Amino acid sequence: MTVDMNLFRGFVEQIKLLPSMAQPTDYPDSDRVAAAKQVFAEKLDSRLASHLEACVHCGICADACHYYVQSGDPYYTPIRKIEPLMRYYRREKGAFRWLNRLFERDISEADLEQWQPLVYDSCTECGRCSFACPQGVDIASMVVVMRQALASAGLIPAGLRAVEQEQGSRGTVFGVGSEQLMQAVEALREKGHEVPVDKEKADVLVLSSTLDVLLFNDALESTVRVMNHLGLNWTIHTCAFEGANFGMLSGLEKVQKAASERITREAIRCGASYVIVPECGHSYPALRWDGANEHGEPLPFEALAISEFLGREVMAGRLKLKPVGKGRRITYHDPCKVGRHGGVFEEPRAVLRELGLELREMPASREMNYCCGGGAGLFLIESARHNRDMGFDLKREQVEATGAESLVTACGSCRINFLAGADRVQWDRGIESLVELVGQALPKEPPAS
Ligand code: SF4
Ligand code: SF4
Repeated sequence: MTVDMNLFRGFVEQIKLLPSMAQPTDYPDSDRVAAAKQVFAEKLDSRLASHLEACVHCGICADACHYYVQSGDPYYTPIRKIEPLMRYYRREKGAFRWLNRLFERDISEADLEQWQPLVYDSCTECGRCSFACPQGVDIASMVVVMRQALASAGLIPAGLRAVEQEQGSRGTVFGVGSEQLMQAVEALREKGHEVPVDKEKADVLVLSSTLDVLLFNDALESTVRVMNHLGLNWTIHTCAFEGANFGMLSGLEKVQKAASERITREAIRCGASYVIVPECGHSYPALRWDGANEHGEPLPFEALAISEFLGREVMAGRLKLKPVGKGRRITYHDPCKVGRHGGVFEEPRAVLRELGLELREMPASREMNYCCGGGAGLFLIESARHNRDMGFDLKREQVEATGAESLVTACGSCRINFLAGADRVQWDRGIESLVELVGQALPKEPPAS
Protein backbone atom coordinates (compact mmCIF):
# COMPACT_ATOMS: atom_id res chain seq x y z
CA MET A 1 0.00 0.00 0.00
CA THR A 2 2.73 2.45 0.86
CA VAL A 3 5.18 3.25 -1.90
CA ASP A 4 8.81 2.47 -1.21
CA MET A 5 10.18 6.03 -1.38
CA ASN A 6 13.74 4.86 -2.00
CA LEU A 7 12.51 2.93 -5.01
CA PHE A 8 10.50 5.97 -6.09
CA ARG A 9 13.49 8.31 -5.77
CA GLY A 10 15.59 5.88 -7.78
CA PHE A 11 12.90 5.90 -10.48
CA VAL A 12 12.93 9.70 -10.54
CA GLU A 13 16.73 9.68 -10.90
CA GLN A 14 16.43 7.27 -13.84
CA ILE A 15 14.00 9.64 -15.54
CA LYS A 16 16.68 12.34 -15.42
CA LEU A 17 18.90 10.09 -17.56
CA LEU A 18 16.33 9.75 -20.33
CA PRO A 19 17.54 12.68 -22.49
CA SER A 20 20.94 11.03 -22.81
CA MET A 21 19.21 7.88 -24.15
CA ALA A 22 17.22 9.67 -26.86
CA GLN A 23 18.34 9.07 -30.43
CA PRO A 24 18.87 12.26 -32.42
CA THR A 25 16.15 12.91 -34.96
CA ASP A 26 18.67 14.11 -37.57
CA TYR A 27 16.04 16.37 -38.98
CA PRO A 28 17.19 18.98 -41.52
CA ASP A 29 16.24 22.32 -40.01
CA SER A 30 14.93 23.53 -43.34
CA ASP A 31 12.31 20.73 -43.41
CA ARG A 32 10.82 21.39 -40.00
CA VAL A 33 8.41 24.12 -41.04
CA ALA A 34 7.16 22.13 -44.04
CA ALA A 35 6.61 19.05 -41.85
CA ALA A 36 4.64 21.03 -39.24
CA LYS A 37 2.54 22.73 -41.90
CA GLN A 38 1.76 19.38 -43.48
CA VAL A 39 0.23 18.24 -40.17
CA PHE A 40 -1.73 21.47 -39.81
CA ALA A 41 -3.07 21.03 -43.35
CA GLU A 42 -4.14 17.43 -42.67
CA LYS A 43 -5.77 18.16 -39.31
CA LEU A 44 -7.52 21.40 -40.16
CA ASP A 45 -11.03 20.19 -40.85
CA SER A 46 -14.27 22.13 -40.43
CA ARG A 47 -14.49 21.20 -36.72
CA LEU A 48 -11.07 22.61 -35.96
CA ALA A 49 -11.71 25.65 -38.15
CA SER A 50 -14.91 26.43 -36.25
CA HIS A 51 -12.99 26.32 -32.96
CA LEU A 52 -10.34 28.69 -34.30
CA GLU A 53 -12.98 31.05 -35.70
CA ALA A 54 -14.94 31.01 -32.44
CA CYS A 55 -12.20 32.43 -30.24
CA VAL A 56 -12.98 36.01 -29.27
CA HIS A 57 -9.70 36.48 -27.37
CA CYS A 58 -11.47 37.17 -24.10
CA GLY A 59 -8.71 35.50 -22.06
CA ILE A 60 -11.11 33.64 -19.76
CA CYS A 61 -9.28 30.39 -20.48
CA ALA A 62 -6.20 31.81 -18.74
CA ASP A 63 -7.94 31.75 -15.37
CA ALA A 64 -8.70 28.07 -15.87
CA CYS A 65 -5.12 26.95 -16.47
CA HIS A 66 -3.25 25.84 -13.36
CA TYR A 67 0.03 27.19 -14.74
CA TYR A 68 -1.41 30.66 -15.30
CA VAL A 69 -3.34 30.64 -12.02
CA GLN A 70 -0.20 29.77 -10.10
CA SER A 71 2.22 32.09 -11.92
CA GLY A 72 0.02 34.96 -13.15
CA ASP A 73 2.28 34.95 -16.21
CA PRO A 74 0.50 35.59 -19.56
CA TYR A 75 3.09 33.29 -21.13
CA TYR A 76 0.88 30.40 -19.94
CA THR A 77 -2.38 31.68 -21.46
CA PRO A 78 -3.93 28.58 -23.08
CA ILE A 79 -4.93 30.12 -26.39
CA ARG A 80 -1.35 31.35 -26.84
CA LYS A 81 -0.15 27.73 -26.89
CA ILE A 82 -1.76 27.16 -30.28
CA GLU A 83 -0.63 30.42 -31.91
CA PRO A 84 1.31 28.77 -34.80
CA LEU A 85 -1.76 26.70 -35.69
CA MET A 86 -3.96 29.81 -35.50
CA ARG A 87 -1.51 31.72 -37.71
CA TYR A 88 -1.38 28.92 -40.26
CA TYR A 89 -5.17 28.87 -40.36
CA ARG A 90 -5.48 32.61 -40.88
CA ARG A 91 -2.87 32.67 -43.64
CA GLU A 92 -3.75 29.45 -45.46
CA LYS A 93 -7.33 28.41 -44.79
CA GLY A 94 -9.40 31.22 -43.28
CA ALA A 95 -11.94 33.17 -45.32
CA PHE A 96 -9.72 36.28 -45.30
CA ARG A 97 -6.46 34.48 -46.00
CA TRP A 98 -5.66 36.75 -48.98
CA LEU A 99 -5.81 39.72 -46.61
CA ASN A 100 -4.22 38.05 -43.61
CA ARG A 101 -1.17 37.10 -45.64
CA LEU A 102 -0.39 40.81 -45.95
CA PHE A 103 -0.22 41.29 -42.18
CA GLU A 104 0.38 37.90 -40.66
CA ARG A 105 3.94 36.58 -40.56
CA ASP A 106 4.51 33.04 -41.84
CA ILE A 107 5.54 30.35 -39.35
CA SER A 108 9.29 30.05 -39.01
CA GLU A 109 11.54 27.37 -37.65
CA ALA A 110 12.34 29.70 -34.74
CA ASP A 111 8.61 29.84 -33.94
CA LEU A 112 8.40 26.06 -33.75
CA GLU A 113 11.40 25.91 -31.43
CA GLN A 114 9.97 28.72 -29.31
CA TRP A 115 6.65 26.91 -28.97
CA GLN A 116 8.16 23.57 -27.97
CA PRO A 117 8.29 24.40 -24.22
CA LEU A 118 4.79 25.89 -24.39
CA VAL A 119 3.27 22.85 -26.05
CA TYR A 120 5.14 20.12 -24.18
CA ASP A 121 6.30 21.61 -20.85
CA SER A 122 3.38 23.95 -20.20
CA CYS A 123 0.29 21.99 -21.16
CA THR A 124 -0.95 18.69 -19.79
CA GLU A 125 -3.87 18.63 -22.25
CA CYS A 126 -6.05 18.55 -19.14
CA GLY A 127 -8.93 20.34 -20.89
CA ARG A 128 -9.84 22.64 -18.00
CA CYS A 129 -9.47 25.67 -20.28
CA SER A 130 -11.70 24.05 -22.91
CA PHE A 131 -14.34 23.47 -20.25
CA ALA A 132 -14.16 27.10 -19.09
CA CYS A 133 -14.23 28.75 -22.52
CA PRO A 134 -17.59 30.51 -23.07
CA GLN A 135 -17.22 29.89 -26.81
CA GLY A 136 -16.62 26.17 -26.36
CA VAL A 137 -13.19 26.36 -27.97
CA ASP A 138 -11.47 23.02 -27.39
CA ILE A 139 -7.95 24.28 -26.79
CA ALA A 140 -6.69 20.97 -25.41
CA SER A 141 -7.49 19.10 -28.62
CA MET A 142 -5.65 21.80 -30.58
CA VAL A 143 -2.62 21.43 -28.32
CA VAL A 144 -2.72 17.77 -29.37
CA VAL A 145 -2.45 18.96 -33.00
CA MET A 146 0.40 21.26 -32.02
CA ARG A 147 2.25 18.29 -30.49
CA GLN A 148 1.63 16.25 -33.63
CA ALA A 149 3.06 19.08 -35.74
CA LEU A 150 6.14 19.51 -33.55
CA ALA A 151 6.65 15.73 -33.40
CA SER A 152 6.51 15.60 -37.17
CA ALA A 153 9.10 18.41 -37.23
CA GLY A 154 11.43 16.39 -35.00
CA LEU A 155 10.89 18.61 -31.94
CA ILE A 156 9.76 16.16 -29.24
CA PRO A 157 11.66 16.96 -26.01
CA ALA A 158 14.48 14.47 -25.49
CA GLY A 159 13.14 12.75 -22.34
CA LEU A 160 9.75 12.06 -23.85
CA ARG A 161 11.38 11.16 -27.18
CA ALA A 162 13.54 8.50 -25.53
CA VAL A 163 10.48 6.65 -24.20
CA GLU A 164 8.49 7.12 -27.42
CA GLN A 165 11.45 5.71 -29.40
CA GLU A 166 11.70 2.74 -27.04
CA GLN A 167 7.98 1.95 -27.30
CA GLY A 168 8.03 2.51 -31.07
CA SER A 169 11.03 0.29 -31.75
CA ARG A 170 10.92 -2.41 -29.06
CA GLY A 171 7.39 -2.21 -27.73
CA THR A 172 8.68 -1.82 -24.15
CA VAL A 173 8.43 1.15 -21.79
CA PHE A 174 11.28 1.82 -19.32
CA GLY A 175 12.61 -1.60 -20.28
CA VAL A 176 9.43 -3.35 -19.14
CA GLY A 177 8.26 -6.01 -21.58
CA SER A 178 6.79 -9.50 -21.36
CA GLU A 179 9.72 -10.84 -19.31
CA GLN A 180 9.35 -8.18 -16.60
CA LEU A 181 5.57 -8.64 -16.60
CA MET A 182 6.02 -12.38 -16.05
CA GLN A 183 8.36 -11.69 -13.11
CA ALA A 184 5.61 -9.60 -11.55
CA VAL A 185 3.06 -12.33 -12.34
CA GLU A 186 5.25 -15.02 -10.75
CA ALA A 187 5.61 -12.88 -7.62
CA LEU A 188 1.81 -12.68 -7.40
CA ARG A 189 1.45 -16.42 -7.97
CA GLU A 190 3.91 -17.04 -5.14
CA LYS A 191 1.54 -15.05 -2.93
CA GLY A 192 -1.21 -17.48 -3.89
CA HIS A 193 -3.04 -15.46 -6.55
CA GLU A 194 -4.23 -17.07 -9.72
CA VAL A 195 -3.08 -14.98 -12.69
CA PRO A 196 -4.29 -16.22 -16.08
CA VAL A 197 -1.83 -15.19 -18.78
CA ASP A 198 -2.26 -15.37 -22.58
CA LYS A 199 -5.54 -17.30 -22.40
CA GLU A 200 -7.00 -18.28 -25.76
CA LYS A 201 -10.47 -17.01 -24.89
CA ALA A 202 -11.50 -14.56 -22.18
CA ASP A 203 -14.38 -12.20 -21.51
CA VAL A 204 -12.12 -9.57 -19.98
CA LEU A 205 -8.68 -8.44 -21.13
CA VAL A 206 -6.86 -6.68 -18.32
CA LEU A 207 -4.16 -4.15 -19.14
CA SER A 208 -1.44 -3.03 -16.80
CA SER A 209 1.26 -0.40 -17.05
CA THR A 210 4.97 -0.09 -16.57
CA LEU A 211 4.33 2.03 -13.49
CA ASP A 212 2.36 -0.80 -11.86
CA VAL A 213 5.03 -3.36 -12.75
CA LEU A 214 7.92 -1.22 -11.51
CA LEU A 215 6.52 0.94 -8.72
CA PHE A 216 2.91 0.35 -7.83
CA ASN A 217 2.85 -3.45 -7.54
CA ASP A 218 -0.07 -3.28 -5.12
CA ALA A 219 -2.26 -1.78 -7.84
CA LEU A 220 -1.61 -4.77 -10.07
CA GLU A 221 -2.16 -7.19 -7.19
CA SER A 222 -5.44 -5.53 -6.25
CA THR A 223 -6.65 -5.67 -9.85
CA VAL A 224 -5.87 -9.39 -9.97
CA ARG A 225 -7.71 -9.95 -6.70
CA VAL A 226 -10.78 -8.05 -7.91
CA MET A 227 -10.97 -10.07 -11.14
CA ASN A 228 -10.68 -13.36 -9.24
CA HIS A 229 -13.06 -12.25 -6.51
CA LEU A 230 -15.72 -11.46 -9.11
CA GLY A 231 -15.13 -14.85 -10.71
CA LEU A 232 -14.54 -13.37 -14.16
CA ASN A 233 -13.13 -15.19 -17.15
CA TRP A 234 -10.18 -12.84 -17.61
CA THR A 235 -6.63 -12.75 -18.87
CA ILE A 236 -3.61 -10.51 -19.16
CA HIS A 237 -1.55 -10.76 -22.33
CA THR A 238 2.23 -10.66 -22.40
CA CYS A 239 2.33 -8.87 -25.76
CA ALA A 240 -0.56 -6.49 -25.17
CA PHE A 241 -0.53 -5.45 -21.53
CA GLU A 242 0.91 -1.95 -21.66
CA GLY A 243 -1.81 0.69 -21.43
CA ALA A 244 0.55 3.69 -21.57
CA ASN A 245 0.92 5.19 -25.02
CA PHE A 246 3.92 7.44 -25.52
CA GLY A 247 3.14 7.88 -29.18
CA MET A 248 0.01 9.70 -28.07
CA LEU A 249 1.83 11.81 -25.49
CA SER A 250 4.63 12.79 -27.82
CA GLY A 251 2.37 13.41 -30.81
CA LEU A 252 3.79 10.66 -33.03
CA GLU A 253 0.68 9.08 -34.48
CA LYS A 254 2.48 6.10 -36.05
CA VAL A 255 3.71 4.95 -32.64
CA GLN A 256 0.37 5.74 -31.04
CA LYS A 257 -1.53 3.66 -33.57
CA ALA A 258 0.82 0.68 -33.28
CA ALA A 259 0.49 0.66 -29.47
CA SER A 260 -3.30 0.79 -29.47
CA GLU A 261 -3.71 -1.64 -32.35
CA ARG A 262 -1.66 -4.20 -30.42
CA ILE A 263 -4.28 -4.11 -27.65
CA THR A 264 -7.26 -3.97 -30.00
CA ARG A 265 -6.01 -6.97 -32.00
CA GLU A 266 -5.50 -9.07 -28.88
CA ALA A 267 -8.86 -8.10 -27.39
CA ILE A 268 -10.61 -9.13 -30.62
CA ARG A 269 -8.56 -12.33 -30.92
CA CYS A 270 -9.49 -13.53 -27.45
CA GLY A 271 -13.10 -12.43 -27.84
CA ALA A 272 -13.06 -9.99 -24.93
CA SER A 273 -16.21 -8.00 -24.23
CA TYR A 274 -14.34 -5.66 -21.90
CA VAL A 275 -10.83 -4.25 -21.77
CA ILE A 276 -9.91 -2.89 -18.36
CA VAL A 277 -7.52 0.04 -18.47
CA PRO A 278 -5.24 0.35 -15.42
CA GLU A 279 -4.78 3.41 -13.23
CA CYS A 280 -3.14 5.38 -16.02
CA GLY A 281 -5.09 8.47 -17.11
CA HIS A 282 -4.11 8.84 -20.75
CA SER A 283 -4.39 5.09 -21.45
CA TYR A 284 -8.14 5.57 -21.31
CA PRO A 285 -8.65 8.01 -24.22
CA ALA A 286 -5.78 6.33 -26.08
CA LEU A 287 -7.86 3.17 -26.32
CA ARG A 288 -11.44 4.24 -25.89
CA TRP A 289 -11.59 7.04 -28.49
CA ASP A 290 -8.32 7.35 -30.36
CA GLY A 291 -8.03 3.57 -30.48
CA ALA A 292 -11.46 3.33 -32.07
CA ASN A 293 -10.60 6.05 -34.61
CA GLU A 294 -7.38 4.27 -35.50
CA HIS A 295 -9.20 0.96 -35.80
CA GLY A 296 -11.51 2.58 -38.33
CA GLU A 297 -14.74 1.09 -36.95
CA PRO A 298 -16.43 0.82 -33.55
CA LEU A 299 -14.45 -1.33 -31.14
CA PRO A 300 -16.22 -4.67 -30.55
CA PHE A 301 -15.50 -4.39 -26.83
CA GLU A 302 -15.98 -1.79 -24.14
CA ALA A 303 -12.90 -0.05 -22.79
CA LEU A 304 -13.34 0.78 -19.10
CA ALA A 305 -11.01 2.63 -16.75
CA ILE A 306 -10.44 0.50 -13.67
CA SER A 307 -12.08 3.16 -11.48
CA GLU A 308 -15.11 3.09 -13.77
CA PHE A 309 -15.24 -0.70 -13.71
CA LEU A 310 -14.96 -0.86 -9.91
CA GLY A 311 -17.69 1.75 -9.49
CA ARG A 312 -20.03 -0.07 -11.85
CA GLU A 313 -19.54 -3.31 -9.96
CA VAL A 314 -20.16 -1.60 -6.62
CA MET A 315 -23.24 0.23 -7.88
CA ALA A 316 -24.65 -2.99 -9.33
CA GLY A 317 -24.14 -4.71 -5.96
CA ARG A 318 -21.74 -7.28 -7.38
CA LEU A 319 -18.71 -5.95 -5.52
CA LYS A 320 -19.16 -5.76 -1.76
CA LEU A 321 -16.33 -4.18 0.16
CA LYS A 322 -15.42 -4.08 3.83
CA PRO A 323 -15.65 -0.51 5.14
CA VAL A 324 -11.92 -0.43 5.84
CA GLY A 325 -11.75 3.34 5.66
CA LYS A 326 -14.47 4.08 8.20
CA GLY A 327 -14.04 7.56 9.67
CA ARG A 328 -11.01 8.46 7.58
CA ARG A 329 -11.20 11.85 5.86
CA ILE A 330 -10.04 11.72 2.25
CA THR A 331 -10.40 13.78 -0.88
CA TYR A 332 -10.53 12.45 -4.43
CA HIS A 333 -8.49 13.72 -7.36
CA ASP A 334 -10.23 13.02 -10.69
CA PRO A 335 -7.56 12.22 -13.28
CA CYS A 336 -8.30 14.72 -16.08
CA LYS A 337 -8.42 12.18 -18.90
CA VAL A 338 -10.82 9.91 -17.02
CA GLY A 339 -12.90 12.57 -15.25
CA ARG A 340 -13.21 15.76 -17.29
CA HIS A 341 -12.59 14.02 -20.63
CA GLY A 342 -14.37 10.73 -19.88
CA GLY A 343 -17.15 11.78 -17.52
CA VAL A 344 -16.20 9.16 -14.92
CA PHE A 345 -17.14 10.94 -11.69
CA GLU A 346 -19.79 8.91 -9.91
CA GLU A 347 -18.09 5.53 -10.13
CA PRO A 348 -14.98 6.25 -8.03
CA ARG A 349 -17.12 8.10 -5.50
CA ALA A 350 -19.42 5.10 -5.19
CA VAL A 351 -16.36 3.00 -4.36
CA LEU A 352 -15.15 5.50 -1.77
CA ARG A 353 -18.58 5.49 -0.11
CA GLU A 354 -18.60 1.69 -0.08
CA LEU A 355 -15.22 1.79 1.65
CA GLY A 356 -16.74 3.93 4.40
CA LEU A 357 -14.41 6.85 3.75
CA GLU A 358 -15.50 10.40 4.46
CA LEU A 359 -15.15 12.13 1.11
CA ARG A 360 -14.39 15.84 1.21
CA GLU A 361 -14.51 17.51 -2.18
CA MET A 362 -11.85 20.06 -3.08
CA PRO A 363 -12.97 23.66 -3.79
CA ALA A 364 -12.50 22.86 -7.50
CA SER A 365 -13.64 19.31 -8.11
CA ARG A 366 -15.17 17.01 -10.70
CA GLU A 367 -15.34 18.82 -14.11
CA MET A 368 -13.36 21.77 -12.73
CA ASN A 369 -10.81 19.70 -10.85
CA TYR A 370 -7.27 21.02 -11.31
CA CYS A 371 -4.75 18.76 -13.04
CA CYS A 372 -2.00 17.18 -10.93
CA GLY A 373 0.39 19.34 -12.95
CA GLY A 374 2.44 16.48 -14.40
CA GLY A 375 0.16 14.76 -16.91
CA ALA A 376 0.60 14.24 -20.67
CA GLY A 377 4.20 13.12 -20.24
CA LEU A 378 5.42 16.19 -18.32
CA PHE A 379 6.95 13.93 -15.71
CA LEU A 380 9.45 12.79 -18.35
CA ILE A 381 10.49 16.30 -19.37
CA GLU A 382 13.19 17.67 -17.12
CA SER A 383 12.68 21.26 -18.26
CA ALA A 384 9.04 21.00 -17.11
CA ARG A 385 10.01 20.50 -13.48
CA HIS A 386 9.11 24.07 -12.46
CA ASN A 387 5.68 23.69 -14.04
CA ARG A 388 5.09 20.32 -12.37
CA ASP A 389 5.96 21.92 -9.04
CA MET A 390 3.55 24.79 -9.70
CA GLY A 391 0.80 22.30 -10.46
CA PHE A 392 1.49 20.39 -7.28
CA ASP A 393 1.57 23.54 -5.13
CA LEU A 394 -1.87 24.58 -6.37
CA LYS A 395 -3.18 21.08 -5.79
CA ARG A 396 -1.71 21.02 -2.31
CA GLU A 397 -3.71 24.14 -1.41
CA GLN A 398 -6.84 22.50 -2.80
CA VAL A 399 -6.31 19.35 -0.73
CA GLU A 400 -5.44 21.22 2.46
CA ALA A 401 -8.63 23.30 2.15
CA THR A 402 -10.63 20.12 2.62
CA GLY A 403 -8.98 19.08 5.87
CA ALA A 404 -8.53 15.60 4.40
CA GLU A 405 -5.72 13.44 5.71
CA SER A 406 -5.22 11.75 2.43
CA LEU A 407 -5.61 12.19 -1.30
CA VAL A 408 -6.95 9.26 -3.33
CA THR A 409 -6.61 9.06 -7.09
CA ALA A 410 -6.83 6.53 -9.92
CA CYS A 411 -3.86 7.42 -12.12
CA GLY A 412 -0.23 6.38 -11.73
CA SER A 413 1.10 9.56 -13.40
CA CYS A 414 -0.90 11.73 -11.01
CA ARG A 415 0.51 9.68 -8.14
CA ILE A 416 4.04 10.25 -9.39
CA ASN A 417 3.58 14.00 -9.52
CA PHE A 418 1.96 14.05 -6.09
CA LEU A 419 4.67 11.83 -4.60
CA ALA A 420 7.45 13.98 -6.12
CA GLY A 421 5.80 17.16 -4.82
CA ALA A 422 5.18 15.66 -1.39
CA ASP A 423 8.79 14.53 -1.20
CA ARG A 424 9.97 18.02 -2.16
CA VAL A 425 7.99 19.85 0.52
CA GLN A 426 7.79 17.03 3.05
CA TRP A 427 4.01 17.06 2.83
CA ASP A 428 2.23 15.20 5.59
CA ARG A 429 -0.81 13.98 3.58
CA GLY A 430 -1.21 10.47 2.28
CA ILE A 431 -1.34 9.73 -1.46
CA GLU A 432 -3.38 6.63 -2.19
CA SER A 433 -4.64 4.56 -5.07
CA LEU A 434 -8.32 3.72 -5.47
CA VAL A 435 -7.75 0.16 -6.68
CA GLU A 436 -5.25 -0.51 -3.90
CA LEU A 437 -7.84 0.58 -1.34
CA VAL A 438 -10.30 -1.83 -2.92
CA GLY A 439 -7.72 -4.63 -2.69
CA GLN A 440 -7.48 -4.03 1.05
CA ALA A 441 -11.23 -4.19 1.43
CA LEU A 442 -11.87 -7.50 -0.30
CA PRO A 443 -13.05 -10.28 1.92
CA LYS A 444 -10.67 -13.23 2.07
CA GLU A 445 -13.31 -15.77 1.09
CA PRO A 446 -14.37 -16.15 -2.55
CA PRO A 447 -17.88 -14.86 -3.19
CA ALA A 448 -20.71 -17.36 -3.05
CA SER A 449 -21.61 -18.38 -6.59
S1 SF4 B 1 -11.75 31.56 -23.31
FE1 SF4 B 1 -12.22 30.77 -25.37
S2 SF4 B 1 -12.81 32.56 -26.54
FE2 SF4 B 1 -11.76 33.32 -24.71
S3 SF4 B 1 -9.59 33.51 -25.34
FE3 SF4 B 1 -9.82 31.49 -24.46
S4 SF4 B 1 -10.25 30.16 -26.21
FE4 SF4 B 1 -10.63 32.27 -26.89
S1 SF4 C 1 -5.29 21.98 -21.38
FE1 SF4 C 1 -4.89 22.33 -19.19
S2 SF4 C 1 -2.67 22.71 -19.06
FE2 SF4 C 1 -3.26 22.93 -21.23
S3 SF4 C 1 -3.65 25.10 -21.46
FE3 SF4 C 1 -5.62 24.13 -20.99
S4 SF4 C 1 -5.83 24.31 -18.73
FE4 SF4 C 1 -3.66 24.71 -19.25
